[in-house]
Order: sequence, then structure tokens, then C-alpha cells
Amino acid sequence: MVKSLKNNPLIEKMKSAKEVVWINPDKIPFSEAEDKLLLGKDDIRDASERWKRFAPFLMKAFPETEVTGGIIESPLVGIHNMEDAINSEYHSNLKGRLLLKKDSHLAVAGSVKARGGIYEVLKHTETLALQNGILKENESYEKLADDSSKAFFQNYTIQVGSTGNLGLSIGIISAVIGYHVVVHMSADAKQWKKDLLRGYGVDVREYEGDYGEAVKKGRALSDQDATSYFVDDENSKDLFLGYAVAGERLQKQLEEKNLAVDDAHPLFVYLPCGVGGAPGGIAFGLKQIFGDHVHCFFAEPVQAPCMLLGMVTGLHHDIAVEDIGLSGNTSADGLAVGRASGFVGRLMEPILSGEVTVRDDRLDDYIRWMKRDTLKEIVENSPESIFLMHVNALRKYLK
Ligand SMILES: *Cc1c(COP(=O)(O)O)cnc(C)c1O
Repeated sequence: MVKSLKNNPLIEKMKSAKEVVWINPDKIPFSEAEDKLLLGKDDIRDASERWKRFAPFLMKAFPETEVTGGIIESPLVGIHNMEDAINSEYHSNLKGRLLLKKDSHLAVAGSVKARGGIYEVLKHTETLALQNGILKENESYEKLADDSSKAFFQNYTIQVGSTGNLGLSIGIISAVIGYHVVVHMSADAKQWKKDLLRGYGVDVREYEGDYGEAVKKGRALSDQDATSYFVDDENSKDLFLGYAVAGERLQKQLEEKNLAVDDAHPLFVYLPCGVGGAPGGIAFGLKQIFGDHVHCFFAEPVQAPCMLLGMVTGLHHDIAVEDIGLSGNTSADGLAVGRASGFVGRLMEPILSGEVTVRDDRLDDYIRWMKRDTLKEIVENSPESIFLMHVNALRKYLK
């Protein structure tokens, strides 16, 4: 339902780039919401099984995944110092335990995009490989690491529009499989990400405009070529399901820590949101498991609250943050998105608990506080050193 933009006090606050909290008035009990959702438990199970089929290949292509048996997953850690910092800075008394899910440390891509982006390329690869006899039914997917398989995939192209991280995840996995890869980067993408991709022979094209512009150009070029596949960040169900598998992975990690999630111990999850696929998919996966015992909130920068704007107005993809005078700029990695996915926004209507927006200067504080917990590890295992590790692993493989 489309709601009026005028005299809406929340939108007035958003216009002046103030932080807001929004509680979703359209959320309903999960047992009722479940039947209305376009996707369900079977779809997640299918995605989860596909990830497992690819595990032998991932172990071979990315030796850093050997320790987890070819499963790309990040640690869940307690952040007690952050808890203390929040309590003292805000004179609050946080109940429960604060945990950090370190998707920044996911193998291969070094961001949450390792879930959705890689999954979509693997699914496309499976389809092509089975159709063309590269893989036979019940054969180990390890075969996809062979030279003959790589030679086959050189006949196919993968294209994607990206602000950086999606391009990295799609670019790296696709190059390793053997595809010709074209990444269409928006102006805000970091130079080192472009350089890294070019190092693997990825064709990186740069655009003056924002993310939407890069996506449009990329899609148009891909549509002209029958052997080219375009990864659509905004509308892809595969990408979404790749993210959704995070639900069962987190469930296992909570169990390992003996942390119950039930009526007396609700789980609150705060998910950074750009176009919506990653937080939407993860929220969807968590709701399927924990139902009403999990409360999912999206967090967006005050200058780029595209999902909140779409949900509050009911306009979803048909409104952009520029329409209410915001810039869409932020230093928050991956979140400089002006227009949200309509597919995700609509799917979230009955299940999302709410949204918060955050100022960039406050994100700087949070990172400083967080470092009290993770400083040692950041020094020893900085994002740069993680990437160096990948670079070296890849070089060996690409020879
Ligand atoms: C892309 C990204 C997000 C948000 O994902 P969307 O699917 O765009 O909503 C959050 N954090 C990081 C680091 C990202 O790269």
C-alpha cells in the first residue's frame, strides 16, 4: 500500500539526515506470514545442499577453506568490551549478550557478499556443467578445478554491476572457475578493489554515475550476448537464497555456544542494509528457523536509507533517497545505495521488526570501541593481509 509522503514526521526527520528508529507496523506472527512468502524452507534446503556439493571444489580452489571442509563461514564471537563501551557511553544497561558475526572475515570475498554472490555463480556453473556433460550426476564437484573444466568455462561470460564488494566476490569466484568476467563499477568503488580484480584478468569498467547506472549498463551489455550471464543484485532469488543459508549456520553456532533462542531468550539481529539482498536473505533464513523468537532490524546510513524509505512509503523500488534530498553518500562499506530492491522490500513487509539509521560519525565511534575487542586480531589479520592470502592462493591456482 502506498502511504502519503506529506506530513509524515518520520520522513521529515529522515530528510534532515537525523537518526531514526522505525518499528514495522505491518509485521505479523510468522505462522501467518509464512504462507504469504514467495520462498520457503525447501528453497533454503536446496541452496544449502548445493553449497555442500561444491565443498570439495571450494577446498581445492581456495585452500583456506580446508579447515572448514569447504564451507565458507565466519566466526561468531562475544564482544564484552563493546558491551561495556555501550553501557558506559550511553549510560545504559544492556540485557543479554552482545555477539558479533564476523562476515568481514568470510573466505574468498572478505565480506557478506561471499554468501550470495558466490552462491549465484556456483548455481549457474552447476547448470552449465550438467547441461554440457562437464559434470555427470553424482560426480564429485572437485572436477571443476581441472584444466579441462576451466577451458570449457572460458567460453562463457559473467557480468555484474557493483559498488565494490559484490564485484570482488563474483569476480574472484568466476575467474577461478574460468569464466570471462566483466565487472561494472560505480564511481564510489575503492581503487584497490579494481586493482585486485584487474590482477586476475577481470575486465573492470568504471562509470561516472552511481550504482544504478553501473547496473543498467552492465545488464544492457550482457543481454546482447547469449553466452553472458548477468548477476542482478536487486531481483535475484538465487543471490537471496545464498544469503538465507546463513540462518542454519548461525543456529549451529549458537547451539555450540549453548545459547538458547526461545520465548524467554529472544534473538535480536542488526543487519547492515544496502540494496537489501544480504540482510533480507539472512533475515528470511533466520525467521524460517526461529520464527517469532528472532527480531530482525536493518541498519542504514542516514544519507542512504533506501530500504526504510521504500518500506515506510510502500513505494519500494519506485522511490530513491535523492527524491527526499539525501545524497546517498556514506563511508559505510557497501551501503551507498539510493534505491532499494523492491523484491526484498515486499518480502520483508510481514517479517521485518524494524529499521534504524545511523550517522557516519557514530559508525567511526563504534569501530573504535569494537577495536577494544578485536584490536589484536585486526593487527594480526588485517583485511589487507586476508586479501594478500587470497591473492597468493589464487596465483598458485591460476598458473
Ligand atoms: C553489500 C554489503 C552490505 C549490504 O548488502 P545489500 O545486499 O546491498 O543490502 C552490507 N555490508 C557489506 C560489507 C556489503 O558489502
